[in-house]
Amino acid sequence: MNEKTSPINTKLDWSAYESYGSFGFDSFGDFGGGSAATEPAADGGGYAKAAAVCMGKRHCQEKGKGVMCPSYRVTDDEKHSTHHRAVTLKAALDGEFGEHPFLSEELSEAMELCVSCKGCKSECPHGVDMALLRVEALAQRWQQLGRVPLRERLFANTPRFAQHLKLFNWVGAMRKRVPLIANVMESWLGIAAKRSLPKAAAQDFISSQPRSVAATEGAREVVLLVDTFSNHLDPQIAQAALEVLQSAGYTVHIAQAAAGERDLCCGRTYLSNGLIDEARNEATRLLDVLAPFAERGLPVIGLEPSCLLMLRDEYHALGLGERVAKLANSAVLLEEFLAREHDAKRLTLPLKPLTGKVLVHGHCHQKAFGAMPAMGKVLGLVPGLQVEFIESSCCGMSGSFGMEAEHYEVSMKMGELSLLPTVRAAEADTLLIANGTSCRHQIRDGAAREASHLAQVLRLALRGEQENSAY
Ligand code: SF4
Ligand code: SF4
Repeated sequence: MNEKTSPINTKLDWSAYESYGSFGFDSFGDFGGGSAATEPAADGGGYAKAAAVCMGKRHCQEKGKGVMCPSYRVTDDEKHSTHHRAVTLKAALDGEFGEHPFLSEELSEAMELCVSCKGCKSECPHGVDMALLRVEALAQRWQQLGRVPLRERLFANTPRFAQHLKLFNWVGAMRKRVPLIANVMESWLGIAAKRSLPKAAAQDFISSQPRSVAATEGAREVVLLVDTFSNHLDPQIAQAALEVLQSAGYTVHIAQAAAGERDLCCGRTYLSNGLIDEARNEATRLLDVLAPFAERGLPVIGLEPSCLLMLRDEYHALGLGERVAKLANSAVLLEEFLAREHDAKRLTLPLKPLTGKVLVHGHCHQKAFGAMPAMGKVLGLVPGLQVEFIESSCCGMSGSFGMEAEHYEVSMKMGELSLLPTVRAAEADTLLIANGTSCRHQIRDGAAREASHLAQVLRLALRGEQENSAY
C-alpha cells in the first residue's frame, strides 16, 4: 500500500542515531542532550535509523544462553522476535500500514510480547534497543489514539498512588477470598485474575529517615536512592541496604524530595507505559536532587535494577541536558558499588559465616548491563555461603507485563522456562535472591516462595543470622 505517513515528531531524543548510515555503528551513544523532541521527520529521522540498526542475521531467533529474546523463546514464533519487530517498525515508518501506523494491527502484534528486557541491546550483535523503540511506538500510539487507556495510566502512576497503596491492601486480600472480585477486575481493568496484587508495607522507609545526615569525619559519603518499590512495598530492603552501607563505614545520604513534596521516582513506570512527558518530569525532579551529589563525585547507589539503570540508560534519551552524563557516571547498583569498593581494597564489611546455599536469579537489566559478576563477587565475600546462579532469562513478570490479563499465560511460560522449576526444586532452607521487585512477585506467584534482595542476605551475614525468616 505504501501510503506516506505524516512527519513524526518523536518524543524521545534519537539524535544518537542520526549519523547511522554515514559513519557506521561506532558513532552511537552520543545523545544530543538537548530537547527531547527532534524536528518532525517524514522518514522518522533518528528513530527510523535506530530501527534500521537491525541487520537481519537473526541471532535473536536462537535459543542459547542469555536473556534474548524471551518472547521468541516461549512462542517459538519469529513474529515475536526482535528482528520481526524491527522490520515491522521500519515498514510502519515507511508508510506501509497507512496514515496511522502506530494504531496498525501489524505493529501492535509485533510489539505485543516485547517485555523490554534489554536483552537485544546487550546481546544482539548490532545492539538493537527494542525496549526504547517500543516506548516511542507506545507514546506515538497514545497520541494517534488520542488517549491513554485506564490500565496503562494506573500502572504508570504507581509512584503517585504508592503512598496510599496500604489503604488498599484489603482489596488484594479480598480478591484471594472472593474470586468474583478478581474476575470483575480482570474484565473491567484487564488485570489478570490469577495474579496476586502487590502488598504495601504498613510504614514506608523514606518518611522514617532524617532529612539530612552530617558526614562523619574521615568517612566516605554515598547517596542511597530508594525507589518507589523499595520504599513502599519492601522498606526492609532499603533498611538492610542502609545498615550494610553504615556497617561498612559510609556516611549515607538518603535522596529525598523537598519537604511536603511527593517522594522521588526515577520515572520508570511512566516510561514503560509510553508516558514520556511524565517520565521526563519525574526524571527532572530526581536530577534536581541528585545532580549536586553527582557534582561532588558521590556514588548514587540504587537497589531496584530497572530504576537505577534507567539513570545510566534511558535518561540519555529523555533530553534532560548535560547534567545527565555526570549522574549516569555516579549511578551504581549496590552490588556494583560494593564489588568496586572491594576491588579498591576500601571495603570493610564484618560478615559472619552463613552455611548452606543461595540461589540467585538475575534481573534482565542486571544481566544486560553486566552487573551479575558483581553479585557473584559480593556474595563470595560471605564465608561459608555456596552461591549458585539460576540460568534464567526473563522471569516473565517484567514490570506490569505479567499483571496484564492477556499476557498472563505467556508471562508464566517465561517463568517456567527455568526460573520457577529451579526455585520449586530448591530445598526449603535455600536462600533465594532476586533483586527485582517484579521477579520476586513472579517467584511468589509461580513457586510460592519468598526471595530477598542481596542487601537482606548481606545483613543476615552481618548479624550472623541463619534463619530465612530473619530477612
Ligand atoms: S535484531 Fe539483532 S540479532 Fe536480530 S536480526 Fe536484527 S541485528 Fe540480528
Ligand atoms: S527487549 Fe527483550 S523481549 Fe523486547 S525485543 Fe529485545 S530481547 Fe526481545
